[in-house]
Amino acid sequence: MADLFESVCLNHPDTPAVTRCATCSKPICKRCIVSRNGVNYCSKACAENAMETVGQVNRTLEEKRRTDLRTRRRAIIVLLIIILAAAAASWYYNQNKSDVDRLMRKTGEKLEQNVKEAKETIQQGVPTSSKYKRNREALVE
Ligand SMILES: [Zn+2]
Ligand SMILES: [Zn+2]
Repeated sequence: MADLFESVCLNHPDTPAVTRCATCSKPICKRCIVSRNGVNYCSKACAENAMETVGQVNRTLEEKRRTDLRTRRRAIIVLLIIILAAAAASWYYNQNKSDVDRLMRKTGEKLEQNVKEAKETIQQGVPTSSKYKRNREALVE
């Protein structure tokens, strides 16, 4: 900052400034520097302000970290539930194999029957050349 060496301390107009406040960037002289953790400020107020900001940033980061952790933990729990559900379903299937197979077959037959009926209804109800009919048939097949 070239202009820094041309400016004077805001509190001492006869003294050249040596640095700027890290918070409000006011030019300040050696006597006015309030140093915190190696950073220069023009006043205690600015130093405390900066500290508070740093604290807030840290808190925000900490909160984000915690939220990430929570999200990850929730994902793991969901995964576990899915695995457990799959295991339970597999176990249930093995225990009731014949029942489930019969049910599946029955469902499949019913579905086939429904499709057949739907097809017949379409064939009966709509003229042969209809675009609508072609579309519906394409859906069924
Ligand atoms: Zn300041
Ligand atoms: Zn000064």
